[in-house]
Amino acid sequence: MDPASAPQAGLCDRCRHQQLVPNSRGSVFSLCRRSREDSRYRRYPPIPVLSCPGFEPGPRIADSEPRR
Ligand code: SF4
Repeated sequence: MDPASAPQAGLCDRCRHQQLVPNSRGSVFSLCRRSREDSRYRRYPPIPVLSCPGFEPGPRIADSEPRR
């Protein structure tokens, strides 16, 4: 994925729970994988995220990982 097409998602860009999801029209969305197990988190939080109790620093999930 072209890094230049990625959204500026604030804190999510440095969080291990972020997954970048491209669509067929070339847009890229920042998905929060915590949303799968915890309803307090939105699947696509409004960005940029400036504060989040679920933030954990680390590399994001590989873009090629299968989506569940
Ligand atoms: S846990 Fe918070 S900081 Fe991490 S990806 Fe989800 S919304 Fe973003």
